[in-house]
Amino acid sequence: MDNNTKNSMEETLHFVEGLKRQWVATFDALIDPVMIIGPDYLIHRANLAAAKMAAANIPDVDVRKIVGMKCHKVFAGRSQPCPGCSLPQTLAEGLPHQFPLSNVIPEREFEVTSQPFPESDKKRLAVHIYRDRTEAAVLQSRLIQSEKLASIGLLAGGVAHEINNPLGGIMIFSQMLLREMPKDSPYYSDVVEIEAASQRCKEIVQGLVDFARIRPNLDVHQKFLPVDAAEAVQSALRFGQINLKQETKKNIRIKENLDAKSTLVRGDKNQIIQVVLNLLQNAIQAMPKGGDIVLRVKNDKAKENLIIEISDSGTGIKPEHLKKIFDPFFTTKQPGQGTGLGLSICYGLVTGMGGKIAASSKVGEGTTFTITFPLDASGPSS
Ligand code: ADP
Repeated sequence: MDNNTKNSMEETLHFVEGLKRQWVATFDALIDPVMIIGPDYLIHRANLAAAKMAAANIPDVDVRKIVGMKCHKVFAGRSQPCPGCSLPQTLAEGLPHQFPLSNVIPEREFEVTSQPFPESDKKRLAVHIYRDRTEAAVLQSRLIQSEKLASIGLLAGGVAHEINNPLGGIMIFSQMLLREMPKDSPYYSDVVEIEAASQRCKEIVQGLVDFARIRPNLDVHQKFLPVDAAEAVQSALRFGQINLKQETKKNIRIKENLDAKSTLVRGDKNQIIQVVLNLLQNAIQAMPKGGDIVLRVKNDKAKENLIIEISDSGTGIKPEHLKKIFDPFFTTKQPGQGTGLGLSICYGLVTGMGGKIAASSKVGEGTTFTITFPLDASGPSS
């Protein structure tokens, strides 16, 4: 080989090396995890973001050495392929696919693009790009929730208004009948039933009225004064305990853990009480055989928020129900036992005060509701 040929080969090699470095740097600079995967779900190549993901699932993994591991192990620490994965179709058809990976990593939503790898031999490889959509999904569901609240609120308000008058008539006349009718009349117990049923209707209508009253609050600072949320929680707790005694559910224990240092938020004391009472009531109903309720009031680490947590050791909520519990009229209770409005009212009240409410639950273990309010640094407490 003459010197000229040698030089030109070295130059080409140098150029190719440079291209390779550039390619690897670009691949690694991508924020989304990317894996090039073969049949049997084996990783042929992965970028730094994918390798970082592996570190969360595989203890002591050398983050650059995930080649040869299974993609589902690296992505979610799973021993089986992720449910709904389109890798087999992409490889078989040589066509791109897109699929969601919802809750494969707990409480995270991913959208995966699965592309046949263009340079691969006989379409035996696919590129998977994992896009984290968790934040977008949360924002989208909040938007849907507030739109739902607004439209159903309008309907509920109208219905409540129409029902109120005839219902008032039924109640008054049944009460008058009860006063005047001898107790041994064969109709007495029927009228008692009518009066009780109309009382129940009144409660439902009141729920609709409360619900209709909720409006998304655009300016929390204009609408609300600072309020001591911890004090409101304590008041709710007092009412809750009276209620517990009345129901003689003695095998339910309520533990308090009120260790927040800063407790002023923008809001309405009565509304906070209403929300906490509602959550306590649901917690009590979720523990027919008794159990523990833990009520915590704390600040977050950054001391920017006040967090109210209500946990119970009750039945828990199935994952497919958890998505719907804040929907108006969603209930799993027997007809006549629940209206399905409690949590949607809580949602409306909390978001109306500039806060957030969320629930996590495990069937058979219990449920935790978490309310977060931004702390208010200004003004005297109301
Ligand atoms: P309701 O209590 O009238 O059914 P809610 O809006 O308060 O209406 O609650 C909706 C549903 O959420 C309930 O029917 C129940 O299935 C579920 N739920 C709420 N809180 C709890 C809890 N602490 N434990 C278990 N399930 C709960």
